[in-house]
Formats: sequence, structure tokens, C-alpha cells
Amino acid sequence: MPQGQGTGTDPELSPEINTNVAHSARVYDYWLGGKDNFPADRELAELMIQAIPNMRAMAAANRAFLSRAVRYLVGEAGIRQFLDLGTGIPTSPNVHEVAQATAPDTRVVYVDNDPIVLAHARALLTSQDAGETAFIMADLRQPGSILDHPTLTATLDLRQPVAVLAVGVLMYFRDSDRPNPFEMVATMLAPMPSGSYLALTTPTPDFNPEETAKAVAAAEAAGITLVPRSKAEVERFFTGLELVDPGVAPMLAWRPDEPPADPESAYYWAGVARKP
Ligand code: SAM
Repeated sequence: MPQGQGTGTDPELSPEINTNVAHSARVYDYWLGGKDNFPADRELAELMIQAIPNMRAMAAANRAFLSRAVRYLVGEAGIRQFLDLGTGIPTSPNVHEVAQATAPDTRVVYVDNDPIVLAHARALLTSQDAGETAFIMADLRQPGSILDHPTLTATLDLRQPVAVLAVGVLMYFRDSDRPNPFEMVATMLAPMPSGSYLALTTPTPDFNPEETAKAVAAAEAAGITLVPRSKAEVERFFTGLELVDPGVAPMLAWRPDEPPADPESAYYWAGVARKP
């Protein structure tokens, strides 16, 4: 897989990779300053920046939350196994890099349904010797296909706690979908033992409804579902779980390394919770 900016005509790309329409993983890659995006992705990414001028900083803040949450889960909660749903194009530090910096024996299963993510995952998501990483190409709409996947059962021991990460991914599903995103999350958590965790972020209209509505309109016009959720809706994902401090919080204010100047300048809620 070439690392240069895509032209949309690269013969080495898998025929499954349609570069003529925007893909969420590549739009996000563009905001993060990555090179694995194509004109259609860049066009939508720029339209969304017009809607939300702080968009690039929000994407970076989402990655920063991911690192803080993984550090918390490994360092304070003692987690050694991760199931990362909607991994995205590998962007260092990836989950296993953050986790294995503290606990080299950590095992991580990455899941995404975008073939461009798969193409990079094999090369870039490689574990330290003491731990393990694996990648499953699967759709979150079929949670059973992930839970029953031989790669998952070979990599994770479901008798031991697992942290399920759904960071920046649940907004691609509507409440009317079957399964809906609440059911998807509940299904993924169901076989995990007591002491497992759920960590998530998801965009919200609560902090700036006007800008958020414009971004949703741009995404939907490009064929990408984008469902921002209120705090009450985000709390619903944690039904039956014990939220750790500070509960569902503005993403920038979830256990920040430095207190944020304006916690609501990234339009995302974040939370981490333990399965009792
Ligand atoms: N979790 C990473 C992070 O927070 O930095 C990446 C988030 S990226 C915005 C969302 C990812 O979800 C993309 O890589 C996209 O391909 C993936 N995704 C979207 N819909 C999906 C689905 N139905 N099944 C699996 N992955 C999906």
C-alpha cells in the first residue's frame, strides 16, 4: 500500500476500495494530517471544517482521549485486553502502543469494516513480543460475527476482563438501525466478565447545535450517516455499568492532562465505565 496522497487511480489499491466516494476513516485521516485520503474524502473533510472550524483540533482531541482512556484502563483499572471497535487508519500512538508502553503483555483486537484500514493494519498494528495484536475486518452491525470470530477467540481470553472501545464510531448508526447502536454496544459487552470496561466518545449537538447541524448536513449529503447525541442519549450506552469519574463528560474534560481552556470547544461527550 503506497503511503503517498491517493490519486484515486492507484493500481495497487484493492478493487474493494472505492476512492470516488468519501469514507469516514479517510475523512478522519485527513483531519489528523494523514496521507491516506483521496479527493472525495478531502472535499467532505473541508466542507465539514467550513461547518465546524475547530474540526481538526476535535479529531486530535479524540485521539488524545483514546490515549488517556487506554492509559487509565491499563494503569489504574489493570486491563490487559482490548477490543477496539472502529479502529480507523492506524495513527500512532495506536491502542496497543499506549497500552504496551505500560503493560507489554497487553493483547488488542482491532475491528474495522474499511478495507483501507485492513491494508494498513497488517503492516502497522504489530505487537511487542510479550503481547499480541490482531485485526478483524467486520461490520459492527453484525456484532455476533465479531464475537464469534476465530481471531477474537484466539487472541482474547473472555474469562478475563476486556475493555471494549467504541471511540468516535457510534455516530455512524441511527436509533432506527437494527441492531441500533445501543444494542450493538450491549451485545459486545454481554459475554465480557465482571471487571470489563466500556470507553466511548461520540459527537454531540449540546455544545453548538448550529455548527453541528451544518456538519451533519455536509456528511449526509456525501452519503455518510452522522448522528450526534445528547448527554442523556450518551448515558444510555452505559446502562447497567458503573461510570468512573468524572462520568459522561465533555471529552476535553475527561481526566485531562492539563485543564482545558474551554471544555466544550470539542463537541464530543466521553465516558468510561466498569461492568459490575
Ligand atoms: N476509533 C478511532 C479513533 O477514535 O481515533 C477511529 C475513529 S474513525 C472516526 C471511525 C472508524 O469507524 C473508521 O475507521 C470507519 O471505517 C469505522 N467504521 C464505520 N462504520 C463501521 C462499521 N459499520 N463497522 C466497523 N467499523 C466501522
